[in-house]
Amino acid sequence: MSDNICIEVEDVNFHYNGNTVLEHVSFSVKSGEYLGIIGPNGGGKTTLLKIILGLLRPDSGVVKIFGQRSDELEKRYRIGYVPQKASQSEFYFPATVEEIVKSGRTARAGLFRRYKEEDYKAVEKAMEIAGIAENRGRLISKLSGGERQRVFIARTLAGEPKILILDEPAVGVDIASQEKFYSFLTYLNRELGITIIFVSHDVGVIADEVNTVLCLNHRLVCHGSPERFIKEEFLEEVYGKKVTSVFHRH
Ligand code: ADP
Repeated sequence: MSDNICIEVEDVNFHYNGNTVLEHVSFSVKSGEYLGIIGPNGGGKTTLLKIILGLLRPDSGVVKIFGQRSDELEKRYRIGYVPQKASQSEFYFPATVEEIVKSGRTARAGLFRRYKEEDYKAVEKAMEIAGIAENRGRLISKLSGGERQRVFIARTLAGEPKILILDEPAVGVDIASQEKFYSFLTYLNRELGITIIFVSHDVGVIADEVNTVLCLNHRLVCHGSPERFIKEEFLEEVYGKKVTSVFHRH
């Protein structure tokens, strides 16, 4: 395996109750890459993420993270995961922004160990990077969808991840905040060197932000640069003609 590859997915197959969800999926992700995974709803995107994270076991095939099987990964905090609808969930418990971000350090600091100075520093830095330090004392339930999304990203940053995986991150973020949100992700990728995997059904967003596109509809329909994706006929195959014309405005 090349040193530069941080995720390797090798011939992964998966089904739920006899329904095939993933078929012979193979690809790799380089360190520092910004990968967009798109595909229609039900195409297997979330399932693939869960397999990459080691939360689900493939029927066959293997996923390696930094050369280690994902279900046996020791330094799990190296992958930050922001699940779908994280920012939309109802928060009945009275947690503050700072408490939520701090909880993201636990996997790294150890559950039963006191936080050290480096842990407090990492939490502080994560809040600053995400631009939420001034909101530290506010209850998460009082924040907008966009603000909550940043809290959940800061929570993963507190673990100082090498890879950040986001599932439909813009859902629940108002349109006005979306552009800022995307430039924030680009900053994390370009300036901090964090490898990003961004899942969305929104084709336009993906093309603008990422440097590689992977299109998944149970199997890998295409994998390459956004330009290649636009030129070739994959979009029509997966989404139909309507989306192709929308996409061409970019
Ligand atoms: P996507 O993220 O692309 O929308 P998913 O990975 O969520 O796709 O789902 C792929 C397929 O697997 C869908 O048909 C979905 O209904 C099915 N599925 C997802 N989770 C489960 C589950 N826990 N049990 C049974 N079927 C599931």
